[in-house]
Amino acid sequence: MFFPGGRLFGIEWNTWKIVGWMANAAFATRFIIQWRATELRKQVVVPVVFWWLSIVGSLFLLSYAVFYRRDSVFIFANAFNWIPYIRNLVIHRRHVKAHVECRICQKVNPPGARFCMECGKGLPLAARD
Ligand SMILES: [Zn+2]
Repeated sequence: MFFPGGRLFGIEWNTWKIVGWMANAAFATRFIIQWRATELRKQVVVPVVFWWLSIVGSLFLLSYAVFYRRDSVFIFANAFNWIPYIRNLVIHRRHVKAHVECRICQKVNPPGARFCMECGKGLPLAARD
């Protein structure tokens, strides 16, 4: 390894330790981002990047568990996390696609809107629901 004695900060390093610590960094970053977004909006907010960081962190952690630790408890704890992460991204994508752009002023209106929030014109019927 590239550190004297293979240790830095008292930790013995190898490639899988780096993968494990990258997982920790992804998870820590997602909490900081989510907390900051919530503080800025003064309401609970979960930014989309939170789910992407969750996927990255859990994949790194699962790799670490499978290929380095080979611990069934650790593997099981991280084997299925991706399901709600992916599901949240799918729901988010559908929600974004359900927004309706006004033909008159191009304002993007929330799903289910009957009238444009900007100019008040009726929105296409097919775009509702
Ligand atoms: Zn409009």
